[in-house]
Amino acid sequence: MKGASQGNTAWSERRGRRALSGKASWKRRAGPHAMGGLLRGWRVALMSGPHRATLHPLCSWPPGGAPQPEFSRLFQPQNLREDEVSGLDAGGPELTCKSQRLMLQAGLIQPATPGCFHLLPFAVRALEKLVRLMDREMQAIGGQKVDMPALSSAGPWRASGRWDRMGRELFRLDDRQGHELCLGPTHEEVVTALVASRGGLSSRQLPLLLYQVTRKFRDEPKPRFGLLRAREFYMKDLYSFDASPAAARRTYKLVGAAYGRLFERLGLPVVRVQADTGHIGGSESHEFQLPAGVGEDRLALCPGCGFAANAETLAPAAGPPACPACGGPLTESKGIELGHTFYLGARYSSVFGATVAGADGRPLPAEMGCYGLGVSRILAAAVEVLSPEDCLRWPLPLAPYRVCLIPPKKGSREAGASVEALRARLLATAPQLQGEILLDDRTQLTIGRRLKDAQKLGYPFVVVAGRKVLEDPPLYEVWCQDTGQVRLLSEEGVVELLRTTEVV
Ligand SMILES: [Zn+2]
Repeated sequence: MKGASQGNTAWSERRGRRALSGKASWKRRAGPHAMGGLLRGWRVALMSGPHRATLHPLCSWPPGGAPQPEFSRLFQPQNLREDEVSGLDAGGPELTCKSQRLMLQAGLIQPATPGCFHLLPFAVRALEKLVRLMDREMQAIGGQKVDMPALSSAGPWRASGRWDRMGRELFRLDDRQGHELCLGPTHEEVVTALVASRGGLSSRQLPLLLYQVTRKFRDEPKPRFGLLRAREFYMKDLYSFDASPAAARRTYKLVGAAYGRLFERLGLPVVRVQADTGHIGGSESHEFQLPAGVGEDRLALCPGCGFAANAETLAPAAGPPACPACGGPLTESKGIELGHTFYLGARYSSVFGATVAGADGRPLPAEMGCYGLGVSRILAAAVEVLSPEDCLRWPLPLAPYRVCLIPPKKGSREAGASVEALRARLLATAPQLQGEILLDDRTQLTIGRRLKDAQKLGYPFVVVAGRKVLEDPPLYEVWCQDTGQVRLLSEEGVVELLRTTEVV
């Protein structure tokens, strides 16, 4: 085993150089010794078989041997300075909340135009994990993923009456033929017209749950709070089609429960509150609100019976409002709206002729629901409520990288100690960590400096090769962000700690 890890180390050192010149040169640069170590390494991960010693001709990377991330190569500020917030110097947006400031400081987002942000690599990694979690929950209840155009013609919006009702919030434009178009803030019209265009739905297809995760647009009068209130953002929107009000209400509950599971998975204390149906319409609506000081919604919560509503929905009362369910006193909180569900009935299906087969086989307008989750908003809101003032903190499943490895400073007494063998061993034992172990190779900086940056970026686990790495056996300092613990662990100990960590 010792030989294998030495072999991997040699290979990994070469790999570091090779990464600069592209993967085609892998075979040439990795010598026979490295190759031997490499093959021994991936036998651990692979079952033995006839292909074990050959590489696929189209793939110059063996399994487990893909390039591993190194900090100095990332499109990411290499020097995190508290006093500098990138993008805020020349006419950038006003800093209005903690998540916006932390994400700007750490180089996760960059302002583009008012209310629009570039999402940079760390942010995109977190966002993609969130989307994978959403896919899991939506597909677990039978959701089928689609992708509808953001650009929509005015026709369907006129038919539903929302072309006028949406007012200035709707981004409108004309094409070169003079056709009126808009950039969708939501897709009730588009999806209902799509379903209608494919003919009636059979009872076998019900409930039909179509969802997408796409960019949405809203001409906010006051874009602010970074990703919390942007003009262009990611939303997960799902639309349900059923044959009867009773079936549609079952579906409504099913989707609400899936949302609850998602927020639980993220560790966010989201409350489901009764809400106003607004311009979307329908007869029933709930919001999924995350209590937070920067929230723009006012929530009325009953500690007695659990009743929760958006304060907008309550009739104004003289004196302190009482709980409509139990009569007890209500408490108020501010909240960030992360999700919204609507029971629509036949409001859209009757306009567009989206039908389903009724009990007697005759077509009926579909009973519909629509369900939104703000994807980029959930990311920012999670950072907002989980982070202290000066460091990013993520829901564990969304952390952009799960582990950061900090090798010794160049020229230090420990400089000869490598963390590459540890990384290779981690990847062989826990293949789910592929691409998740970031090496902070800025060895010109002290360990303390890099550790500070690591804490700012919020990796759940930071493994430091400090002084004790020279002991026999070598010991690593492991910083566990969620518990705040620092542990001294041997290589086996680190592997044991991370072996079962689940990555989305
Ligand atoms: Zn109550």
